[in-house]
Amino acid sequence: MLAAPAIAVPVLPRIYELNREALARWCEDHGVPGYRADQIRKWIFGKRVDSFAEMHDLPANFRALLAESFSLFPATVTEHRVASDRTEKLLLQLHDGELVECVLMREPDRRTVCISTQVGCAMGCVFCASGLRGLKRNLTTGEILEQVLRLDRLLPRDEAITNLVVMGIGEPLANLRSLLPALESLNEKGGLGLGARRITISTVGLPEKIRELAQIGKAYNLAVSLHAPDEATRSRLVPVNDKIGIDAVLAAADDFFAITGRRVTYEYVLLSGVNDAPVQARQLAGLLQSRVAHVNLIPMNHVDELTFVEPTAPRTQEFVRILTEAGVPATVRKRKGADIDAACGQLRLHQLEPAASAPV
Ligand code: SF4
Repeated sequence: MLAAPAIAVPVLPRIYELNREALARWCEDHGVPGYRADQIRKWIFGKRVDSFAEMHDLPANFRALLAESFSLFPATVTEHRVASDRTEKLLLQLHDGELVECVLMREPDRRTVCISTQVGCAMGCVFCASGLRGLKRNLTTGEILEQVLRLDRLLPRDEAITNLVVMGIGEPLANLRSLLPALESLNEKGGLGLGARRITISTVGLPEKIRELAQIGKAYNLAVSLHAPDEATRSRLVPVNDKIGIDAVLAAADDFFAITGRRVTYEYVLLSGVNDAPVQARQLAGLLQSRVAHVNLIPMNHVDELTFVEPTAPRTQEFVRILTEAGVPATVRKRKGADIDAACGQLRLHQLEPAASAPV
């Protein structure tokens, strides 16, 4: 197992940390026309090069200057796992030794990537491996983008990322400052060109941040991790709920819908004997019946360090039936990458605590 170095290694800034305008300014400051920025970005986002040397339509001395000034993919891939369903997961080590995970999921008509926004997480959801060691730090815009660009390079030439979910390690809305510029680059034409409607941001429900996201004028999707219909159960599962409360979360999600017109998805991890009872399904239906909402039920991904288990299939179906009959659309998320520790934060946790990890 790889031990994290204690001392941070200096690293050149990732070139895509600069947005198009900033890169054009940098070019002009170095005596090169601003349009070179578009060429550079085309090589990175469109043509998937791995080095400045491959950017053939740039003058050789300019390519050398870029290589002296910026990095492209400074993180180290410490693990690359491929599941039997062709889900791929990368564990990246950053310049300061910290680890983050990102995942590529394949479905017949979709190529979805799931990325992290923080090293660790402060929210402490009790069923999640990512929160077990708390929050270390926010990721930068470049560190967020590097995950997507590396996953994009795992795809063959004739395939492209179709969907992005910000559901990996961390609470995305706690790091909007880095996340929003990254999404902008992925969304814009000179970047990855990924439609805003194909980007979903997940949150435990930070009301002010939900409203901030709603105000930016982008059609991103919001997924609120509700996980329980009553305060006591939710506070047990998502401790930050103690300070917020379900009503405040739902009110903010209502505002998001009112401002953006985008239907809100409510995520609900089904945990046997904890939040999967028919009475809880009815309570959840009561909360969401009057709202334009969709419930995404997530079977618990096994985590060795945690004791929760997934409900049986009949129990899950009963939960879906109650919601659907009450007029609340609900689907059960397909399990992806179960044989490669694809649950959020598992691979990182097993690197940090090798003794606790089971063989895969
Ligand atoms: S589920 Fe998300 S918000 Fe909760 S601890 Fe895990 S990463 Fe953080």
